[in-house]
Amino acid sequence: MKFSVCFVTAELAPHAKAGGLADVSAALTRVLHARGHDLLVVLPLHTALDRTGISLEPIDGLDGLSLQLGSQHFRYSILRGRRAPGLPDLVLVDCPALYDRSDLYGSAADEHLRFLLLSRAALDACRRLGFAPDILHCNDWHTALLPLYLRTTCAGEPLFARARSVLSIHNLGYQGVFPYAVAGDLGPAAALLDRGEAAEGRINFLREGIVHADTVSTVSPTYAREICTPELGMGLDGVLRARGDEIVGILNGVDTDAWDPRHDRRLPFHYSPGDMTGKARMREALCARLGLDAGLSRPLVGMVTRLAWQKGIDLLFDVLPEALSRRAISLVVLGSGDPVHEDYFSRLAADHPPLAAYRQGYDEELAHWIEAGCDAFLMPSRYEPCGLNQMYSLRYGTVPIVRRTGGLADSVQHFDPRTGQGTGIVFNDADPDAVRWALGHMAALYGERQAWTRMVANGMARDFSWDTAADRYLELYAQAASRPR
Ligand code: ADP
Repeated sequence: MKFSVCFVTAELAPHAKAGGLADVSAALTRVLHARGHDLLVVLPLHTALDRTGISLEPIDGLDGLSLQLGSQHFRYSILRGRRAPGLPDLVLVDCPALYDRSDLYGSAADEHLRFLLLSRAALDACRRLGFAPDILHCNDWHTALLPLYLRTTCAGEPLFARARSVLSIHNLGYQGVFPYAVAGDLGPAAALLDRGEAAEGRINFLREGIVHADTVSTVSPTYAREICTPELGMGLDGVLRARGDEIVGILNGVDTDAWDPRHDRRLPFHYSPGDMTGKARMREALCARLGLDAGLSRPLVGMVTRLAWQKGIDLLFDVLPEALSRRAISLVVLGSGDPVHEDYFSRLAADHPPLAAYRQGYDEELAHWIEAGCDAFLMPSRYEPCGLNQMYSLRYGTVPIVRRTGGLADSVQHFDPRTGQGTGIVFNDADPDAVRWALGHMAALYGERQAWTRMVANGMARDFSWDTAADRYLELYAQAASRPR
């Protein structure tokens, strides 16, 4: 069956990216388009959006549109963004009053309006372009109210008669919680808001989407189970459990064009499981670039990450200085976020030259170099809905050291030297001792060349293509489409 899908997102790689949502949006829509499904991919024309590779065109009759949100009146236009052959066009919502900001997200008082407008504009784009969606695919809190609009403003409209909503949760940690005072900005959808939340004086966008979407998915099977527990449900486990078995976990794929060690355009040297010379060269090049000791006697461990509580950085506070002082590992970290974490890594690098390097900021090219040049890659996440870097690491022959949570648990199998099975080092607990054990275990295995080579080869043989993930989304769409209203 071919689907007409209106895919609404705040991010799309490589143009507007804060995290994994951008990668999923880009890859899934590209595969669905390639398979002949009819797509309307809607996102804000953020000022921060990199327009390279997008040719913007006005659409007849779709400029100077207006929308009233509560007491505020907005003017916006809908533009078409043509891209390279093989990629679906974008539908970009141009509303400078809301999207002319330095960052994709902010904390100003109108943050909810920015995404209410996106949601309402997506429905308007469907109407004005005569696009009758089978599936309205919403992503994260930003577009989680779309299912409510489908049931209110769109009710009775023939164009939306077939439409079923799919809400994908990329990270339950971001819920879009606003004071109840903004309810008036929601228009008719406000009638469906949860009374209990209202009594508490708030509106939780993601919660509303979970309750009202026809189907809810998240980005790995383990995370789908975890978010139904009080430990990782972030206050929404009750509403998630209330949906019974309906939360579907689909592990993200990786963009195999961008992330392939055989022809990664960001790397000077390439390699494959059959010839790993290029990886050794990348290791040397990475060490030279960062002023790191390139000695082979200790493993070079990499991290590329947002520096946020979720990522378990605080678990490393004592462990990394110890390991570096013992000269058991060398380390390269790329990331930005929490200033406490940034300071920690800056000091760590200053205290341990030439074994540790830290680069603050977002650097796509360096991220590729780290994946290719390191021996191991550390992800001590407290929770991880899916995670991409562990999958890049596996493809790049870089042994992932991960906590057994979410998508990390679903994509990395602990290596057993007796059977030769497994692809990385997996530890259970979110505590420093567990990380200490994992690093020690990794360093010991690094010394056993045969076991290490086997573990690396096992990882490089894993398939994380988007084709597999897209099959699962299509099953989800079929399931949603067959649901009665
Ligand atoms: P999250 O969405 O929680 O940030 P994911 O692992 O799902 O984590 O996706 C993060 C993506 O962002 C990966 O592609 C990762 O390589 C990239 N990334 C994160 N921080 C940086 C950085 N400082 N520089 C370059 N890429 C980064």
